[in-house]
Amino acid sequence: MKPFTYVRPADAKAAIAAAGATGASFLAGGTTLVDLMRLEVMSPSAVVDVGRLPLNTIERRGDGIRIGAMARNSDVATHGLVAERYPLLAQALLAGASQQVRNMATVGGNLLQRTRCPYFRDPAVPCNKRAPGSGCSALDGYTRSHAILGTSGSCIATHPSDMCVALVALDAVVHTRSGGRDRAIPIGEFHTLPGDHPEVENALEQGELITHVDLPGLPASAFAAHSRYVKVRDRAAFAFALASAAVGLDVADGRIRAARVALGGVATKPWRALEAEQALVGQAPSRATFERAAAAAIVDPRPRRDNAFKVGLAKNTIVRALELAWGTP
Ligand SMILES: Cc1cc2nc3c(=O)[nH]c(=O)nc-3n(C[C@H](O)[C@H](O)[C@H](O)COP(=O)(O)OP(=O)(O)OC[C@H]3O[C@@H](n4cnc5c(N)ncnc54)[C@H](O)[C@@H]3O)c2cc1C
Ligand code: SF4
Repeated sequence: MKPFTYVRPADAKAAIAAAGATGASFLAGGTTLVDLMRLEVMSPSAVVDVGRLPLNTIERRGDGIRIGAMARNSDVATHGLVAERYPLLAQALLAGASQQVRNMATVGGNLLQRTRCPYFRDPAVPCNKRAPGSGCSALDGYTRSHAILGTSGSCIATHPSDMCVALVALDAVVHTRSGGRDRAIPIGEFHTLPGDHPEVENALEQGELITHVDLPGLPASAFAAHSRYVKVRDRAAFAFALASAAVGLDVADGRIRAARVALGGVATKPWRALEAEQALVGQAPSRATFERAAAAAIVDPRPRRDNAFKVGLAKNTIVRALELAWGTP
């Protein structure tokens, strides 16, 4: 591991000042950063420990809720307000990692976790995300875990988070603070597509601290009664999604009044499937309706040799999630 300085500032202002220098990195639970430092995939010159800043509360905010960036994934998943109003988020969190990892992992760190593309994690091979301009080893490599949506000629890595898929479905807003200004970034604009610069993964600037995440009240909370996160993976623990779907239905008088569909494991960022939502609205919930929505969700997929199965798998995952959300046995 390369040498680095370590500081644990007492407040957010000092943390932001310390992380403003090029090469500095925040440290929260450490479950992504420390792994990648050991592998020398990330080599910050300064580590700014924010894990103990008082940003871990989960509270009502208007008709929605506010979740502090330092709230642990396990605490969010089991919180009464989350379980009651946003069970989709609780399900997505509990589908990720293990209890031990969730006890350390924070909301801020989960938003910024890095891809599990094996070439990204191997400094011996080219990777545009890790070493810009070096090339993409996955393009001619083994692509079973890679993306079919949102890819570019520079990178086809999937975004690995389960939590973020639920946040996208729920229209969360990420709040940040940097030298003198606060920002509210809609989750759909928080993660960026790889394009020609896969090394840029989000809208944050150097030293910008995530302070909390807001979940809106209505309409997001209207999905609580009929929502579901389904994750398909190779084994039941310590495995990232091959495909996942976060769905919510708001049904009145036998018709779907509003719907949310978001996908994980198949795209380069947590993916909102607006076309699927449009196909659901106004329809009666049924297997046929769900299948039409799933077909509409996968627009212009770009499968490669080893991941073509994800086109069908993503559709089947959406149908299953919609059936479970609606209550089909
Ligand atoms: C064995 C294992 C299995 C896993 N399985 C899954 C899984 O199935 N599904 C899943 O979704 N995830 C999984 N993960 C990933 C895990 O969810 C993330 O590692 C975790 O959420 C990161 O949170 P952290 O607090 O530990 O972040 P850290 O490692 O501390 O930080 C991660 C990044 O976020 C930045 N950061 C942290 N907090 C802030 C902040 N407030 N503001 C600005 N930047 C910040 C850091 O600088 C760093 O770049 C797994 C991880 C492990 C180790
Ligand atoms: S897919 Fe992206 S992360 Fe993986 S090797 Fe290519 S550039 Fe790197």
